[in-house]
Amino acid sequence: MAVCEILSVGTEILLGDILNTNCKYLSTELANMGISVLHHVTVGDNDERLAEAFNTAMSRSDIVIATGGLGPTPDDITRDVCCREFGFDLQFNEEVADNIRCFFKTKGYNMPENNLRQAYVPVGGTVFMNDNGTAPGLGMKKDGKCLVIMPGPPYEMAPMFKKSVEPFLEEYRTCTIVSHEIRTMGIGESAMAQVAGELLDSENPTVAPYCKMGESLLRVSARAENAEKANEMAMPIINELKARLGDYVYGIDVKGVEESVVALLKEKKLTVATAESCTAGLVAKRITDVAGASAVFHCGFVTYANEIKEKMLGVKHETLEKYGAVSAETAREMAEGARLKSGADIGISVTGFAGPDADEEGKAPGLIYLGLSAENYLTAEKLETGRNDRDFNRFVSASALLNLLRRYIEKEI
Ligand code: ATP
Repeated sequence: MAVCEILSVGTEILLGDILNTNCKYLSTELANMGISVLHHVTVGDNDERLAEAFNTAMSRSDIVIATGGLGPTPDDITRDVCCREFGFDLQFNEEVADNIRCFFKTKGYNMPENNLRQAYVPVGGTVFMNDNGTAPGLGMKKDGKCLVIMPGPPYEMAPMFKKSVEPFLEEYRTCTIVSHEIRTMGIGESAMAQVAGELLDSENPTVAPYCKMGESLLRVSARAENAEKANEMAMPIINELKARLGDYVYGIDVKGVEESVVALLKEKKLTVATAESCTAGLVAKRITDVAGASAVFHCGFVTYANEIKEKMLGVKHETLEKYGAVSAETAREMAEGARLKSGADIGISVTGFAGPDADEEGKAPGLIYLGLSAENYLTAEKLETGRNDRDFNRFVSASALLNLLRRYIEKEI
């Protein structure tokens, strides 16, 4: 297995001014390719110390990846020092110079002449064009050793790695890692981990639990010589976890519960209308974030004030008086109203206290009621997030409502 060393160049990293996120990114990507990273070295913008670090790295590693110090100013020395030490001469490259000129032109800036320093590239090396900046990346292979140099800014380095450097390093790849995400709702991370049980100890594929804004997820990652084999290894574990977790699983490799909901509505040829109070349109937004939602999303009512709940949705005055706006009774009438007023197949609703303050009756923030109405079906559910965080409560109640809709379609239709 090829051994790689990451050489981060920049005095600002040594001073603690910036966090070395390039190193983290590259280490993860290289591990995914089955390339062993055995050393991380950081060195300042100093010729002698960089040369020493470079030569040490080359003496013990097959691949050296340097980032940073490719800028146009005299303290940017990575290109000069590493190419010199590796035995590659630099030569002015007209195509690279044109790219740099073009970069400035499209931004509407005058190009400082010193930027053309970045157009010097190693004779016999490979140039990686920079789609997000001016300094090109450089690749060199010699005597069984490989050197890659990339610019420091992460938004330049990461896309360059994916587009050009990963293919450049393909001959060193020993494996592929394929990951799949099982997304669940309604079960906490520790309960989910308990259900996954001994599968969490599996080494290949690995199964890792984590949580995210009101959801619990399991990442199943398999390592094999190619993606097909890795998928073959991952599938039995995924199927077993799905069987164990049952209805809690709302999707695999989906962006969110809204994606599963839109797919189900499409499959069953159903339309939905929303009535929202505390989320003020977030549920409608999340449904319509999914491409193709127009086939299933009918309309959304944002009914904050009580009188609007009455006027637009037909919620009864007595219901609001007797039970309050944040109640199962109001949630049911809002859902019913959304469905009947719009003509959609299903109406869903959400009403609650997002926080941070408790309401006049002393009901706590995070108390939410969800409603669902369909022909011959009417329900309301209570949700208590226990959190005094407005954004969290809104997002989580929108997710829970979408999940209520998903469970209804999967079970009842
Ligand atoms: P530029 O042309 O922008 O000068 P460069 O290749 O010379 O690019 P540096 O000057 O070393 O790169 O760094 C530019 C900026 O990129 C730093 O100020 C920092 O924000 C970011 N950067 C550099 N190295 C790293 C790193 N290892 N991890 C995270 N960010 C980095």
